[in-house]
Amino acid sequence: MEFMEDKVFRIGPIRPPSEADSLLLQVTNGCTWNKCKFCQLYRHTKFKAYSADSIKADIDNMVYHAERARQYQNADGSWDIDGLNGELARSGAAERECFYMVANWLVGGGENVFLQDGNTTVLSSGRLADVLVYLRQAFPSIKRITSYGRAQNLAKVSAEEFAELKAAGLDRIHSGYETGSDAVLKKINKGVTAAEEITAGRNIKAGGIELSVYFMPGVGGKELTAENALGTSEVINAVNPDFLRIRTAAVKPGTGLYEDYVNGEFTLCSDDEKLIEIRTVIERASGIDTRLVSDHIINLLQGLKGSLKDDKEKLLAMIDEYLAKPEVEKRMYQAARRMARVVSPKEMGRLSEREAAELKRFAESVQDPYEWEIKMNDMIARYI
Ligand code: SF4
Repeated sequence: MEFMEDKVFRIGPIRPPSEADSLLLQVTNGCTWNKCKFCQLYRHTKFKAYSADSIKADIDNMVYHAERARQYQNADGSWDIDGLNGELARSGAAERECFYMVANWLVGGGENVFLQDGNTTVLSSGRLADVLVYLRQAFPSIKRITSYGRAQNLAKVSAEEFAELKAAGLDRIHSGYETGSDAVLKKINKGVTAAEEITAGRNIKAGGIELSVYFMPGVGGKELTAENALGTSEVINAVNPDFLRIRTAAVKPGTGLYEDYVNGEFTLCSDDEKLIEIRTVIERASGIDTRLVSDHIINLLQGLKGSLKDDKEKLLAMIDEYLAKPEVEKRMYQAARRMARVVSPKEMGRLSEREAAELKRFAESVQDPYEWEIKMNDMIARYI
């Protein structure tokens, strides 16, 4: 096929782990707010919402790459991977990433699309709906379209407008609530209130769109650990999101939260305190069927997954079993988890004697508990 240098489309830098296999369509660039104290994702990016025509041009280029890829699909639906690799090698440098993304997505079934970046619902619902319809027509194999949304903007969208977006093809919104406590929201400069989170969540669900909410244990610091748990519990119980995803707080150099920490205004929570926050949210879950998900390496217990309706006892038991362990064992696990050697306390038994002895030496080498929290925070912060 003739090579055309300009057949490229924009690809943003961020997507949730659950969208790892999704086709990425950039609808906006950066974040409208850009002031959350823990975040530096789009710090140097000036926000821009692309026009419907510009986004459609990107979709057209995705279709072009899909046609290139489909030359290597066999009659039985299987793929000639060597042929695809050859086509990839013949791609110009600029379009290689685009071809790879589309081909990889099609080989995986071509079902899910994630709209980037930080806050796509700032597009008027009419413009977004126009793009969604165009995208679905271009790729009839699509089963799910998801997007990020900031609660403060989402709260301005009515249930009727969300229903229109659902009809146009938007299936799920991911929103970083982080906390449901007004005191913590203020402390991290989230620019939203718990009441707005509730309005946004209820409207999204009333419009028939799935809602995936992110919760950040530890983001209030030791100063507001109880408020973080209790406020989040109240918002979750009021909204009943489809998913509650844990994103453990990490204080990273270069952020406003790091400055607060250096200035003594923010004290790091221990891993136990963060788990107790999660435990409180689980224990207080009432009248909701939200699914708890722990799908990021920064979370201590990856196995914390289940329904807040049917699996409460199992989830609480998992936390209590960990909390009851001797301190040195907990430290060994914390370090092993942050070194990506294990995903659960049970896996500690699989480590070699030498690895276990090294971890024990490391765990016992730090006397001051807060010095240990600093070490753990530094390890977590490497992953974000
Ligand atoms: S709204 Fe999201 S992307 Fe924007 S600054 Fe806050 S956390 Fe970062």
